Order: sequence, then C-alpha cells, then structure tokens
Amino acid sequence: MDGNLAERLAQIRAGREKWMQERQLEQDRKEVVESLHTMAFQDQSPPGSGEKGVTSSSSGPRHPPPAAASLLAPEEIINSITERIADRIRAELQCQVQQEKQKAADGQVMATKKLDSYLASEIESHTCPICYELMAPPRHSPILLFPCGHSFCAQCIAVHTKTNQKKTCPYCRCKIESQATNVALQQLIQNFVTKKNTLGSDGSASRREGGTEGERGGTKSGLGIERRRDDLLRRRGGVQSSWSASGPTTVIGGVNDFNSVHRRQEDEAGGTRERDEELEGECERFTRELQKVETRCIVLQNELHDTIADKAAAVNALHIAELVLDHLRSEEVESASKVKRMLLEMEVIRTQVDEQEKKHALLSQTLKDIDTKVDLICRALQPLTNERNKLELLLQSSNTKLSSVPCD
Ligand SMILES: [Zn+2]
Ligand SMILES: [Zn+2]
Repeated sequence: MDGNLAERLAQIRAGREKWMQERQLEQDRKEVVESLHTMAFQDQSPPGSGEKGVTSSSSGPRHPPPAAASLLAPEEIINSITERIADRIRAELQCQVQQEKQKAADGQVMATKKLDSYLASEIESHTCPICYELMAPPRHSPILLFPCGHSFCAQCIAVHTKTNQKKTCPYCRCKIESQATNVALQQLIQNFVTKKNTLGSDGSASRREGGTEGERGGTKSGLGIERRRDDLLRRRGGVQSSWSASGPTTVIGGVNDFNSVHRRQEDEAGGTRERDEELEGECERFTRELQKVETRCIVLQNELHDTIADKAAAVNALHIAELVLDHLRSEEVESASKVKRMLLEMEVIRTQVDEQEKKHALLSQTLKDIDTKVDLICRALQPLTNERNKLELLLQSSNTKLSSVPCD
C-alpha cells in the first residue's frame, strides 16, 4: 500500500519536473531570440543606454529593431554578437565552477552530517531498555540473558537479579538460566564510540563552517528536527541569494537567465531530494524511538506487575506480623500477672523464713541452756557418787566385822 503510494508520488513528481523543464526550455528559447534582436538594435544606439536595455530585456517593453540597424554590415553585427556571447559564456562558466565548488563543499558537509547522525542513531539503538544508558563497559557492559536472548546493562541486571532477587527476564519474563557479557555487541558499541569520537574531533571544523553546530544532540527530540529543517531552509535560501547576487552584475542577458532557471530547477530538485531524505531519516528515527519506548513500557509494566505482587505479599506478611504481635502482647500481659503472683508468694515465703529463723535461734539457745544444766548436774553428781561408793565400802566392812563376832 505504502509502496504503491510512493511509486505514484514519484511518477507524479517526475512528470511535473519533465513538464517544467520543457516549459522552461521553450521560454528560454524565446528569451534568447528576443535578446539577440534587442542586442542587434542596441549595438546601433548611442553609448550609455545599451547596458540598461540589455539587463531589462526580459521584463522591459519590446522595441522593434529600427531601420538604422539594417545600415550596419552583417559581419559587424555577427562579430559583436559573437563577442558578447563569448563574454557571457565565460562569465557563466566561472559562475558554474563556483556553484559546483559550493555544491561539493555542501555535499561533504552533508555526508559528514549524515554519517554522524547514522552513528548517533546506531549507538542510541544499543541503549539499555531499563536505564537508557549506552551499553558500554565497564559499568554498563551489555549482558545477554539465556535462553531468551535479551540484553541489558550489567548494572541494571545486577540490581534486578541480586538486589531485587528476581529470576526472570525484565522484558519477556522468561526464566533466566544463565547470563554472560555480549562480547560481540560490546565490541560493536566500543567501535561505534571510537568512530563517533574520531568523527566528532574531525567534523567539528566542517560543522562550524556549515553552520550546523549542535546537530548531534538533536536526534532525540523534535527540537533537533526543527533545527535540521531550519538548517536546510537556510542553506537553500543561501543558494538563492547567491544567484541574485551574481545574476544581474556578472551575467547579462537571456542566455544567463536560461542557465539560471536550469540551475534553479536542479537545485529545487536537489532540495526536494534532500527534504525527502531528511523525512526518511526522521521516520527511521521515530521508528527506533517508538521501539525503544515500547520496550521500556513493557519493562515498566512487568516491574509494575511485580511490585503489585510484592505489595500483596507485603500486606499479607504485615497481617501475619500483626497477629503474632497481638499474641505476644497477650502473653506479655499474662506473664506480667504471673510475675506479680509469684512476687507475692515470694514475699509470704520470705516472712515464713524469717519466722522460722527466729524459732530456730530460740531453740538453739534452749539447747545450749540444757547442755549447761546437764554439765552442772553432772558436776554436782560426781562428788555424791564418790561419797556413796565410800559409804558402801564402809558399810560392807562393818557388816563383815559384825558377822565374825560369836553370839554369846
Ligand atoms: Zn541499564
Ligand atoms: Zn527476555
């Protein structure tokens, strides 16, 4: 569908250009014939009025050649015309050489700019879908995930897998079985960065000449596109003003007009081509931007999904934690009351212990008194026992004496 439309547009454009060329050729032919007539007339007119008549030949009123012109010899007329034509062709050729040089310089600037923007867009397409940083080592080395094959920068994947403890691809949610540095991509990015830096130092001078400074930063936003458009218009305006500056002063007559019109047509066609190329470039850039933004959207949607799941888990854990806290609080209250009871019991026991200790001391004292009393009694008993033993011995001896005396 788009291809057909583009083809049709190209056909219409080609037809229009062909028609304009034919029309211009016809017009130019008429103007040349007219200017030749005018020149033939002016060669006969007094000096000072000739140049004015020539410059206004295309727009001024047409004078029929007077009868005096026919008085000149035909050789003189031809010589005069030949000289003028040679002068014009010389001036025209000089002008063309100048134009070609300008075109070549413009082309070089344009090519450098295109290469520059191509490199910028290539590098931009290798940015991490999570942090948008260029995947260049050491911190943002490209890491390839297996088996899905998506690449992210080392820093983001470390945060994703280690800090956030995730085990799936941030883009496609495929389980990450292993990961490794994407060496080929890393080399490619490094080469691009090196080339871009080299180009940046080489091309800065030519960019300054071309007045397109600040072009590199403009690839991301519409601002850069506006600037490119302004640039293009300014360049085209510059070419037009150079025609108007050189046209009337250095080139005279209809032949110059003919060539100028051709150049204008060529430059217009060139301008259209440039504009088409610019628009195609913009389309490519927008497509790349769209892809990047879509990737980022998917990554963020996955992140949102995970975060919502994390929130649900956190809410559940919080609920459980609240239940446990309530249980622990009730146990704390219970334990406190137990401690209170035990303290009271301990107080009672301590009182009993005190009482018992007093009783014990009293009984010890009583025992000591009894021991003293026993000692005293024993000491009192000892002499009495001795006395008794002595008296028993005396009694026994008396009884023995009594039994041995006769009864008469
Ligand atoms: Zn990243
Ligand atoms: Zn993936």
